[in-house]
Amino acid sequence: MTLTFLCDVDGVLADFLGGICGVLKERGYPDIRRERVVRWDIASCLDVPSKVIYDIAGCEGFCECLEVLPGAVALVDTLRHHGDVYFVTSPVWSARTWMFERTRWLREYFDVKPSEVVHTSAKHLVRGDVLIDDKPETINQWLLAQPGTDPYPARGVVWDQPYNRNPPWAEGVRGRVHRVRNWDQTEEVIQSMIKQRHG
Ligand SMILES: [Mg+2]
Repeated sequence: MTLTFLCDVDGVLADFLGGICGVLKERGYPDIRRERVVRWDIASCLDVPSKVIYDIAGCEGFCECLEVLPGAVALVDTLRHHGDVYFVTSPVWSARTWMFERTRWLREYFDVKPSEVVHTSAKHLVRGDVLIDDKPETINQWLLAQPGTDPYPARGVVWDQPYNRNPPWAEGVRGRVHRVRNWDQTEEVIQSMIKQRHG
């Protein structure tokens, strides 16, 4: 049986935070450093109005210019080696060209087919065996909605970032969540799943 992996894009493959910081620096905002972003809310961490962040992300060309995060190519290679990979990504709804740019970006850097991209913020509706995401709230919601393939439970993989540590995990989710920092820790999670499936 083939495993189905759902892979988030921003904060896992694409450097959304780096893109925001780059534009803020260009615009002369003081003390813009990614190390200051230790909570989910970028605006409050950097003392910038939320509207400014939304406006930057909503600009045509922003999404397509994002850099690939270190280790992202190795992560996708690892997932592809073990199963089918779908890229489940929540769009910036105010950006007219976001979904087009995101699909093209995935094709350019990861050779992804458009049919492998799911643009949605309702990730809990997407079926899979493993969700790799940097947003604990999304993993919570997804694990509660996705039991996995009987008798083995679906797993959530939190892509470690300074802004996603120590989240409040939902009841019944803890044992199914793994925190990883790189592709080889992801490989360990997959191996443990395979072992469990095959005894
Ligand atoms: Mg993300």
